[in-house]
Amino acid sequence: MNTTKIGWIGLGNMGIPMAGQLITAGYSVTAYNRSKAKESALKEMGAEIALTPAELLEETDVVFVMVSDDQAISEIFGGEEGLLQAKTSDKIIINMSTVSPKISKEMAGRCRDKESFYLDAPVSGSVKQAETGQLVIMVGGEEEIFEKVKPILEKLGKLAMLVGSYGAGNTAKLAINSLLALYAQGLAETVVFANQNGIETADLLNLINNAAIGNIFTKIKGDAIIGDNYKAAFALKHIVKDLGLAKDEGISSPLAKTAYETFKNAEAGYGEEDIIAIIKALK
Ligand code: NAP
Repeated sequence: MNTTKIGWIGLGNMGIPMAGQLITAGYSVTAYNRSKAKESALKEMGAEIALTPAELLEETDVVFVMVSDDQAISEIFGGEEGLLQAKTSDKIIINMSTVSPKISKEMAGRCRDKESFYLDAPVSGSVKQAETGQLVIMVGGEEEIFEKVKPILEKLGKLAMLVGSYGAGNTAKLAINSLLALYAQGLAETVVFANQNGIETADLLNLINNAAIGNIFTKIKGDAIIGDNYKAAFALKHIVKDLGLAKDEGISSPLAKTAYETFKNAEAGYGEEDIIAIIKALK
């Protein structure tokens, strides 16, 4: 049994399997989620539940945050019962959410004022990788703190890599998700074009997945298209957020611009469905 006490905030599609991995690895985990119904899944896996983020930080050593966006981070850290209200110091807070580099720099400074430590550590991979500890984790922050928590990060991912100072993990993640958007839109457009010209989806995907351009993404999302299963593993609304953040950081290349417009236009109809539901908007 590992003696580091873990806190986990954010029990969405990613948070539940990731926190579950740490329980399986033998850590004691205390969890908090804004809407209480989602906490029961983790309780059943053996987690304790905290009533507020501040209480959770006081009771644990290393706290992970896996929530939607900058707004959620502002509330989890700066809210009335937020992390920054905790009467404690020397804690490590690891923000794994995909958010802006700007908010990471701000929260790193505010944690330092409270004599605690911050790392931004967003992840590449989705629910399947979260369930098997196969995520790719990109970290911004101080090397000494990163080295301290690396063994825990390695329970969540197959690679945990420090890429720079505060916010650098977020920048790397926005770059990667720009490519993700291009993959999703590209795959969807390819299927639509083939269908319009008489090729069955399953036949096309069989070809793609056996060809050099096939990859884990085309396999997983191809199966989703064939099965007509658009339940969110990675919600389409999140890629709109990420492309918007990349835009704020200055991305202005032709494909990134087009992808942002395509996904933004699809958000009203398909935002809660999976990213690959972009195919429905393109049809
Ligand atoms: P999700 O299923 O939509 O869950 C979002 C979580 O954030 C929920 O726990 C939600 O609480 C919480 N939250 C949202 N707004 C909040 C607020 N204002 N205050 C407090 N809590 C708030 O999202 P997810 O798919 O797990 O993704 C989480 C993060 O990881 C996002 O930044 C996403 O871009 C990133 N990510 C996702 C994937 C993926 O494949 N899903 C992959 C890589 C990275 P409630 O339950 O109360 O709503």
